[in-house]
Parts: sequence; structure tokens; C-alpha cells
Amino acid sequence: MGAAEKLVQWNPTDIKAELIKKYPPKVARKRAKQIMINEALENGTPEITANVRTIPGIITMRGCTYAGCKGVIMGPTRDIVNLVHGPIGCSFYAWLTRRNQTDAGPEGPAGENFMNYCFSTDMQDQDIIFGGEKKLEQAIQEAYDLFHPKSIAVFATCPVGLIGDDIHTISRQMKEKLGDCNVYAFSCEGYKGVSQSAGHHIANNQVFRHIVGENDEPVEGKYKINLLGEYNIGGDGFEIDRIFKKCGITNVSTFSGNSTYEQFATAHQADLNAVMCHRSINYVADMLETKFGIPWIKVNFIGAEATAKSLRKIAAYFEDQELIDTVEAVIAEEMPDVDAAATEILPRTGGKTAMMFVGGSRAHHYKELFDELGMKTISAGYEFGHRDDYEGRRVLPHIKVDADSRNIEEIVVEADETRFSPRKSEEELKALEEGGLKFKDYEGLAPDLEEGTLIIDDLNQYEAEKLVELMKPDIFCAGIKEKFSIQKLGVPMKQLHSYDSGGPYAGFKGAINFYKEIDRLVNSRVWSYMKAPWQENPQLSGTYVWE
Ligand code: SF4
Repeated sequence: MGAAEKLVQWNPTDIKAELIKKYPPKVARKRAKQIMINEALENGTPEITANVRTIPGIITMRGCTYAGCKGVIMGPTRDIVNLVHGPIGCSFYAWLTRRNQTDAGPEGPAGENFMNYCFSTDMQDQDIIFGGEKKLEQAIQEAYDLFHPKSIAVFATCPVGLIGDDIHTISRQMKEKLGDCNVYAFSCEGYKGVSQSAGHHIANNQVFRHIVGENDEPVEGKYKINLLGEYNIGGDGFEIDRIFKKCGITNVSTFSGNSTYEQFATAHQADLNAVMCHRSINYVADMLETKFGIPWIKVNFIGAEATAKSLRKIAAYFEDQELIDTVEAVIAEEMPDVDAAATEILPRTGGKTAMMFVGGSRAHHYKELFDELGMKTISAGYEFGHRDDYEGRRVLPHIKVDADSRNIEEIVVEADETRFSPRKSEEELKALEEGGLKFKDYEGLAPDLEEGTLIIDDLNQYEAEKLVELMKPDIFCAGIKEKFSIQKLGVPMKQLHSYDSGGPYAGFKGAINFYKEIDRLVNSRVWSYMKAPWQENPQLSGTYVWE
């Protein structure tokens, strides 16, 4: 059965109805608001409900707030000791399972790299009963004595919030006591927000408050940028840095792939912030602009075309012919290999279909790569996106601030008295905008998807299986929790959080890697042999209690 034949069986309205049919009425009403049939009309996209609590009982794809703070934002920082205050179970998924990579840095293997360690206070029952502050203090001291790091970050997990350990006071006291080690804490208890998104916000606030701007030693470079929201999964950041280097662009700091403490501390010296993952890091971009006068633009280095476009945007911002010419020369040098790979692979991937439910920007970024493979994205959504990630930042003033959002601290940032320096005048920014460069703007996922595409927020285990059963995509992309249940349905599944064992997929070389990987997955016959014994001889059956 060809891809086109599969699709004509259903229209999106039927699929939506089918997805929520089994739910009790109240749950169905709630989920219906998180499933949007895309109209892809500018300023006319229907509203989606996002960043709301998962309904209890539903097996969500989301992670907790601590996972977003410790795992996503701080996980890839190589020379900060990331100390988890909590039971050891919370640290399991924080131990490099996201495949963030780092290099040894200028000091080589002798330099500081704590990413391969798992630091935890390993709270026990008695700590929950009598309090864990003493244990935290000892753990900070022990980490300092063993490694003498320049910085220790402390992360609160659920039990810590419940028993009320004052991690901020302990951190402040230890910072004073140690003298040459910046110690600070994150109130990122797992339950703090509706998803890992709250953890990103908490991490951004504290990184900005405790590290950014700490080092005024000048950073050399003609075209200085920060790359925000790039986490060096599978070496993506290495490939982007390779391209920047070729173009003569200085990447002062990546937030936070392959990052160091000093890079964060000098980030205020960049002249432009290039934002990859809008959801996880837009807070830092806004704060850097308000406090230091650095404008930000949205970029995407996932996809060869998207990479070329993003490089051209950066070059346009600096308005320097030398940079514009170098960027064009680099694109011209890199693209023939990409084109050759696409020409070879496209006949085998063209016309196939993909679904993506990942991240808060990733599904959007990877759509570009599937476009390059001639594949159609038939359904997509985010685990922890907000409305602006779907519908664009123009909806920001209309997003209701609910109790869960109010739970996350909003820090007040003002222009720095001595270091605020607008990198471009109002007139310059206006002229650049007239030339097509958009500042502080992101249009979201919806306008980039075809009309009628099903956009689903916080897809869950049940709906994922149902969706695959109904629409039979040629590939499904999400995270580890979904991987095996989807594969058991006979559909290839690619993890776009950790890339399974692959990558990099960013930049020009990454695009070629991705083409090859997807070709291998969607054209393998192995999936058609997936049949569990009970599919042929069903032994168990059941009904829902309300049926
Ligand atoms: S939800 Fe709470 S207990 Fe579970 S991993 Fe997150 S912080 Fe730990």
C-alpha cells in the first residue's frame, strides 16, 4: 500500500475524533483543545492549548521540571559540578543519557570535565525525616575537596521541596566559605511546573543571575555571537562550530552545548544572540538584550538549507561584505556534498511520511530535514511547547498566565548601568528589518506545516499508538519512552532527543548523516516482520470501565 493510499482513508477531523473517542467526556474535551487541525493561515491559525498540566492517569511523553533544568540546560556544561540534591533515582536520566558531547577544551584531557560524573546527595529515608541540609553541605564540601571546580550548581528534586531544605542559603554559605567557587542553587523540584519547560526557565534565570556578565576580560573576534538553545547532542554543536570557524564567526558562548563556565560569564560581550531552540532559552535572549543591548534573531542549523539561511541571516546582521562573501563561499563549498547525497537518497525517501513529537522547537527544526528528503510531515507537536512555539510570538500578549506559570519566578532585569550598549541603533535595526531580518521574532511551527496537518500538544502513549495505527507513517520521531512501543507496531522510530546512537545531524555534514539514517530506517524491510505472538493469536481482551 503506497503512502498516498494510506492517507486518503482519513481526514484530520476523523482522526481527531478517533483519538479522543475512548476518553471520558471531560478528558476528551480537554484533549480536543490540545489537538489542532492546522489551517496554516497567517494570523488565522486556530488556537491550541499548550503548557497545561497533563491529565492524571495519562502516560505523558513529558519530563519533569528538574529534568529540564539539570538535564537539558545544565547537563552539557563541562566544568560546573552539577550536584543533585535528592534520591539517586532522580539522577538516573541525568547521567549523560541525552548524549550531550563535549571536547577537552584548550587544556586538553588535563582540563576540567565533570560531565562523565553523576553527583548526588543520595537522600535516604532519614534525610527526608530529619532534613537533608547537612548532607548537602557535606556533599558540596566533598565535591570541592575532590575537584576544586570553579562552580557548583545544586538542583532540588521533589522530596527537597516537600521537606523544605533551604538549598539557596546552604549554597550561599558554602560560596562564602569556599571563597573561589561560585555555588548557587536551582529550585527546580520535579513538580514545580507542568513539564520540563518550567525547568528551562528556572535554569535560565539562575544562569543569568549568577554567571552571565561575571567576566569582563575582553573576548577577541570580529563577528561575535552567542548560540542559544543548542545542546551538542550527538556532536551537533561541534559541526555548527566548525562552520562558524570557517566563516570567521566567533561563538562566544553556546547555551549550553559544549559550554564552560567562562563562556557563560563572558556571554555579555557578544554582538548578536542567535536562538536555536526558542522554547528552552528565549528567556536568556530577552534578558541579554534588556541588560546589555544585544539583539536576537531566530536561527536553525538543522537542515542544510536552514543552515545556509541562518548563516546568511548572521552575515546580514553584521552588514559586512567580507563576512557576506565568506559565508557565500562556505555555503558554495559545503553544498555540493549535500546535493550529491540528496540526489542519491531522494528517490528512495521522496513521498514517504513522518510524524514528530519532540521538544519545544525540535519538531519544527526537523521538519526542514524531512522536507529536504522529500518526506511529508503528516502530524507533529511538542512535549513541552507553549502557544507561541506553535502559533508564533505574536500570541504572547494573549497567553493566559495561569497558576502554574506564576509558580515560576520572573526575574526583573534592567539595563546594566555601565555595560549596556545597544549593538545597533533603532534606525539600523529598522533598516535591517526592512531588508528582511526579523528581530525578537519566531513564527512557530504551525505556519510551516501544511494545511490540515494534525498538530498535537503533549501527545501521550495511547494517542501515539492510535495515531500510528490510523495514519501508518513511514517513520515516527520522539524520545526513548516511545521508542519500543512504536517499533513493536512495525514502524521505525528515531529518537530526536538523544539521536539513538547517531549524529551529528546539524549543519551540512549533519544533514548528510540524517539523510543516510532516515534512508536506512524507512527502507528497511525488518519492520514488516514485527509481529508479536499475541497479534496473531490474541489471548487477552478487555474493555474500559465506562464502556
Ligand atoms: S519528578 Fe521529582 S522524583 Fe521524579 S525525577 Fe523529577 S525530581 Fe525526581
